[in-house]
Amino acid sequence: MNTLPAAIKKRSARQFLFFWILPLAVIGGWRFPILGYLLPLCMIAGIGIAFFKGRYWCDWLCPRGSSWDLLLSRISLKKRIPLLFRNTKFKIFIMMVMMTVLFTQLPRAWPSIDGMGRVFVTMLSVTTIVGIVLGIPTHHRNWCTYCPVGTMGHWLGKGKYPLMISSSCNECKKCDTVCPIQIKRWQYRPENGDAFVIPEWDCLKCGLCIEACPQKALNFKTNYGGIYGKDF
Ligand code: SF4
Ligand code: SF4
Repeated sequence: MNTLPAAIKKRSARQFLFFWILPLAVIGGWRFPILGYLLPLCMIAGIGIAFFKGRYWCDWLCPRGSSWDLLLSRISLKKRIPLLFRNTKFKIFIMMVMMTVLFTQLPRAWPSIDGMGRVFVTMLSVTTIVGIVLGIPTHHRNWCTYCPVGTMGHWLGKGKYPLMISSSCNECKKCDTVCPIQIKRWQYRPENGDAFVIPEWDCLKCGLCIEACPQKALNFKTNYGGIYGKDF
């Protein structure tokens, strides 16, 4: 039985619960700067969840990620995300830029509640525009490969709730068509019978590849506490 359509529908419904927070903060924030505080709240939540489930936040709890999937995907060309955006140095560069902006602008706005809210709204607006402009000609989840919260989730979530692949994978690549972050799971197919941890910590834990796999070769390992690439 093909369970993929139902899984996609369920995921979209969950994303629908949260996507509206992004336009609310970006558009409404210019009138009500207090809405800008949704940004640090989301950052704290995303980083906190990473300790237990990696980038689970990014799949459907993140208002921006949900907006990318529900809205931006309709106009994105859905091409391969350029390797530059997956480069660790590039991710660190983006994180440093954003931290520098925050730590220089927030003290200047202090102690104005609205002033600091405007700093967050400005940052949210600029990064949303960047995500849209780069996401249309490449892939709608382009921003998610170098988003600082995602980068923190990548680092803090190593080994948390990992995806496993077994040797029953026949490299049909059907899972490639559903992965929002374009991970090639089949390249980690083990030769022997032991399942193998896929060392891709940008995985959003959406589970769509599990539903798409006709060989039932993929699954999450819920009690895995080891290091990446290690057999279990
Ligand atoms: S869909 Fe399953 S069998 Fe096909 S490449 Fe992906 S993991 Fe392997
Ligand atoms: S690897 Fe699978 S679970 Fe992870 S983001 Fe891609 S489709 Fe979702």
